[in-house]
Amino acid sequence: MDSTNKETMIAVKGLKKSFDNNHVLSDIDLNVHKGEVLAIIGPSGSGKTTLLRCLNFLETPNGGTVRISSTSVDASQDLKKQKKAIRALRKSAGFVFQNFNLFPHRTVLENITEGPVIVKGEEPGSAAKKARKLLKKVGLANKEDAYPSALSGGQQQRVAIARALAMEPDVILFDEPTSALDPELVGEVLNVMKELATEERTMVIVTHEMAFARDVADRVIFMADGQIVEEAPAEELFSAPKRERTKKFLKKIL
Ligand code: ADP
Repeated sequence: MDSTNKETMIAVKGLKKSFDNNHVLSDIDLNVHKGEVLAIIGPSGSGKTTLLRCLNFLETPNGGTVRISSTSVDASQDLKKQKKAIRALRKSAGFVFQNFNLFPHRTVLENITEGPVIVKGEEPGSAAKKARKLLKKVGLANKEDAYPSALSGGQQQRVAIARALAMEPDVILFDEPTSALDPELVGEVLNVMKELATEERTMVIVTHEMAFARDVADRVIFMADGQIVEEAPAEELFSAPKRERTKKFLKKIL
């Protein structure tokens, strides 16, 4: 439990990440509680995507601990010995990529059922039934037999969101989910995410969509130079930022 008396779903302590001599993340501490929608904003190159990818070990941190739900991994220990924990962590954390990352040679339905069947051992029939429900939820009920290449970027990203949901993760991590989309397709993806946000899901969203972050996030983190410079409830961070670095960034982009 944290000070808000809600269950802490993600707990990050002392997280560090370098690429050779480039120290990208230094000593990040971060807690996200159950049902919270957290947006991460900040200038390009500040380490937002790297932080998100470190949460489920798509990038290997150089130090620190990450706990998601009941699984904890200590990056300062031998990670080979923690392979099982890393697998469990990844099951707990759905990931939605900038570029969708759908399997190109699988249909929409197969893209969604693959994880539940292969990773979780679900029965194919019930996985398909669940996938159809999720396709309906993201507005793509008529696309189950299509291949990704036949879909627009916005549709592909909605399939990717359905695929993440199909694993029934404890948290969903979104890495700039609309940045690869043509402007007219951004809204349809944000609308799906808005709906998810109303369902008490724990979501962490790296985004450049400031109006969306302000509207949908419970809390916003501003990152610069690999550090969390400021964090506050969304409305407060946008209307009354405290740190000069945050003010400068918001002035430039709003
Ligand atoms: P942001 O998401 O805030 O734009 P990133 O996390 O993508 O920032 O990048 C932070 C820094 O880490 C940048 O300097 C970037 O060049 C570097 N970086 C990110 N990924 C890699 C990688 N795979 N190899 C080397 N450097 C990387």
